[in-house]
Amino acid sequence: MTNTKTQRKKNNEKLYKKIRNTSSWGSTVVYLLMIILFIAMLVVLAGFVLQYFVETKYAEGYSEIEHTARLYEMGSDDKKVMEYIESGDSDFYVTDQNGKIIYRKGKDTRTDTSGKVSFLNGEESYTLYVDSETDFLYVDNDSNLRLSVGKFIEWFTDVADDEDAKVPVWVNISLSGGRKLVGKMYFIITKRDTILVVELMSAFLAIVIVFCVLAFVRIIRSVVNYRRVVRLFYSDPTTGGHNWNWYVRYGDERINSLRRKKESFAVVNIVFRNYRNYCLCHSMAEGEDLLAEINYQLSQELGKDEMCAHATMSNFAMLLKYKSEQQLRERLDGFIEKLRGIESEHNFDFQIGADLIPPKVNDGGKIVRRKGRSVENAYNNACAARAELGETEESGVRIFDNALFEQQRWRDIVQQHQYNALKNEEFVVYYQPKYDPRTNALKGAEALVRWDSPEFGFVTPGRIIPIFEKNGFITEIDHYMLKHVARDQKAWLDEGYECVPVSVNVSRAHFIETDLAQQIRDIVDAAQCPHGLIEIELTESAFFDDKKAMIATIRKLKEYGFAVSMDDFGAGYSSLNSLKDMPLDVLKLDADFFRGENAGQRGEIVVSEAIRLAKSLDMRTVAEGIEQKDQVDFLAQQGCDMIQGYYFAKPMPKNEYTEKMSRSDSAQNDAHTEMQ
Ligand code: C2E
Ligand code: MG
Ligand code: MG
Repeated sequence: MTNTKTQRKKNNEKLYKKIRNTSSWGSTVVYLLMIILFIAMLVVLAGFVLQYFVETKYAEGYSEIEHTARLYEMGSDDKKVMEYIESGDSDFYVTDQNGKIIYRKGKDTRTDTSGKVSFLNGEESYTLYVDSETDFLYVDNDSNLRLSVGKFIEWFTDVADDEDAKVPVWVNISLSGGRKLVGKMYFIITKRDTILVVELMSAFLAIVIVFCVLAFVRIIRSVVNYRRVVRLFYSDPTTGGHNWNWYVRYGDERINSLRRKKESFAVVNIVFRNYRNYCLCHSMAEGEDLLAEINYQLSQELGKDEMCAHATMSNFAMLLKYKSEQQLRERLDGFIEKLRGIESEHNFDFQIGADLIPPKVNDGGKIVRRKGRSVENAYNNACAARAELGETEESGVRIFDNALFEQQRWRDIVQQHQYNALKNEEFVVYYQPKYDPRTNALKGAEALVRWDSPEFGFVTPGRIIPIFEKNGFITEIDHYMLKHVARDQKAWLDEGYECVPVSVNVSRAHFIETDLAQQIRDIVDAAQCPHGLIEIELTESAFFDDKKAMIATIRKLKEYGFAVSMDDFGAGYSSLNSLKDMPLDVLKLDADFFRGENAGQRGEIVVSEAIRLAKSLDMRTVAEGIEQKDQVDFLAQQGCDMIQGYYFAKPMPKNEYTEKMSRSDSAQNDAHTEMQ
């Protein structure tokens, strides 16, 4: 099944949200995070490399002094060994178990600043003392010897130009017998080391720069692409202006914004009435050019914060600011005048509906922000107001008001309750009898629906049928009515009443169903009601739908033995042509023939000719809405077969109608005997 409109709308909104969520900001943040992560990784890596470098150098220096310590321990009594030690680079001194210096070589440049350092494997830690010549080593709060990076780099760059740089540090090494050797070790940075470090760091830096440039290009491209997608999403291909998505998105924002809370906004629907005809007479392309021109002209009228978009077909949506209703009306009239002047050789018509959104005032009389007002709802109201101007081609302006609001509220109520009402059998069948005007005998009846609602009271069809016709529920009602009428007829037959055919209205909405005749037959058969007791009424307007399908359905209905009538003949457009093609049994003359301007001599001529025409086509006639005696006499004279009107009877509940029917004698006798 294809998606419904609401589903499509939801999908569209989802898509839009996705686009928004993956907006350039989103991807920019992601890219920035990636860059930061990458740089952090490089810094950590560089840190590891540096640490490895430094610690390796420490280890080298340490192994030298440790070597000296071991030599001293092995040969402190051996002159040769001591000579060998004396010739070495290392300065050191040795203390006995009491801390008394027992041997010294070179100068003691050690300071009091000391701390622990653990090397790469982390298993051993050494207490190191800062040498007075170096100031980039310090001890942190945890008594660890640390390098002051800034000072180190300063020193490093100073020594880098010279030969190898030697950084002295003092270390404690335990000897046997509680003795200790405190020696000066060197942290040697060769020229090669400096070149290596500089090269390594430059490589890291180059990678970071390349990565940043690539990421930056990517960010710029995604921003540009996002803008393009948004432009596509919001632009209207027909007019080149904005589309409905844009209108809803920014319209909501505009009317709900804090900054504009004091402004009065009007949500406006403008329809170019002649669009279809214009396209038919010219071409689709020219029609679209005209829409583009209308959009342009309307856009020219916009002030600050106002909006215009092409909504659907020949509908435009606007958001306008207004000072007073009168001023808005004048402005909208001005729009119509302007638009009508687009092509002087055509007489174009534009209908406008508007819903007013004044500032919102709280209980304390203070103007507050209009939170949650939906431009879409307001636009629907504007459309409803515009629809009130009718299907005429005339231009006009209509503002959504309380009456329309009530109408919509009622429509919503009906829609909410319709299925439950059907389930609870709240819809009741009223019967309006049809009489022979010459003999005053009951000849038939029409079944008319009423809604006996426990909540809303007794509701007449005029208040529900148009709603059901629009929302499609009418098919359920018609089936429901047919089922109940067929059951009633069957029950009356069984009770011995002389049943007359009862006509049931079938809405035009049914005619898209190709098996309509079979459905009707099945419903009637289920009630075991003879087909001759059911007549099907089709309203005149239905005859303008698919003619071929209509003829096929009427033929089938007749084949099954149902009579078919044309309801409301003469109410709308002339349906003489339909009479020619449709094999109908009954023609129901609309009540309009007998009312107001239509009545009178000319009206009588039309009615008598219509009756004559029906007779020649072998059709029976029913006159609807007859309220007066002289009308009955006239119709009797003209040979009208039946009269349905208040003169004889109003639509009535089943029990009252039952009383109007007569019983066959035998049945009456049977019933009488049964009672005795
Ligand atoms: P309709 O089928 O043309 O029914 C005739 C309408 O004229 C009925 O209005 C009836 O009460 C009214 N009427 C009959 N005689 C007179 C009269 O002398 N004076 C006046 N003023 N009115 C008279 P009702 O019952 O309000 O129904 C209105 C319309 O609603 C019907 O017009 C029909 O089109 C529709 N309708 C009613 N029930 C159903 C239904 O079950 N299915 C469908 N599809 N439509 C229905
Ligand atoms: Mg009818
Ligand atoms: Mg009628």
